Amino acid sequence: MTVPQHHGTVPTGPSRRSVLTAAGLTAAGVALQGSWGATSAAAAAAPAIFYSPHQDDEAIGMAGSILEHKAAGRPVYLVLVSRGENGGIAEYLNRTPCVLGSKCSAPGHRHELGWQETWPTPEVVSARTSEFNASAKALGVDKVINFKLSDTAYGTESEYEAFVKKIMSKVRGLIQQYPKASHKFAAGWLDTTNPSQPTNATHKACSDAAYWLHDNGELKDVRFNHIYTYEAFSRSQRDRGADYVLNIPSAHMKKKRAAILSYNTWDPNRNLYTTGYHSVPTMLEEAYSDPREFVYALPSDYTPGRGK
Ligand SMILES: [Zn+2]
Ligand SMILES: [Zn+2]
Repeated sequence: MTVPQHHGTVPTGPSRRSVLTAAGLTAAGVALQGSWGATSAAAAAAPAIFYSPHQDDEAIGMAGSILEHKAAGRPVYLVLVSRGENGGIAEYLNRTPCVLGSKCSAPGHRHELGWQETWPTPEVVSARTSEFNASAKALGVDKVINFKLSDTAYGTESEYEAFVKKIMSKVRGLIQQYPKASHKFAAGWLDTTNPSQPTNATHKACSDAAYWLHDNGELKDVRFNHIYTYEAFSRSQRDRGADYVLNIPSAHMKKKRAAILSYNTWDPNRNLYTTGYHSVPTMLEEAYSDPREFVYALPSDYTPGRGK
């Protein structure tokens, strides 16, 4: 295992902005507690449910928020939305020399794993999910829930819409099971590694599902974490437009870094093959070195759909 490369970016102070403060988020929970009297303990213990579109998104852009909610006494449930099929990762890990060169954690930077590169890439799904479970453990979440949805967000338009509906159906089940839960999704309308490129379809499908459930009144308490900002923007630009910038305390950052390192651990005995680091090395490195997360409310001008 190697430590992600550090970049010599100069940290900048937080800029002035309109924010939902951490105190504000906590205050809502307190108010709820007060208004429910005898059931206040149950209300206060309502879970915060985080929905990671793929294996790695929770470590990159949600880990600090997960730890913030745990520290506030909330049970945290972590959902893996998609199976994370990805032929590109199999291609990288089937080839020597590695595209990552000396940054690769495999012994001698060599790997010829012989994994299936075509859908549904079973070894990739399995290894990515092992990394996800190790990350969840590092973060100390109370429950891991795997929706196991095939990631058809990049298929035809109707496959995309069907994927959104499947996410909605699964989230609806959790709303019914935990009526007082709060729900945290990826800010899919923002999640692209390059602002001139389309957003990640899987991430957009997740925020679309939240949008529709909010629109019809089923989903009340919902927030969104901007996952791809670490790669899309330089450090001074990452907080642009965020409703709340979480400054992650150092004790929590230590755990977040452990979660990130789950995606850069080569340990075949534990089914760990650094799939995350071979998929999004820059994002993992930048998130590792930036102790902030970026939280959004649902925009009033939200546009559902995969887009172009
Ligand atoms: Zn993702
Ligand atoms: Zn490699």
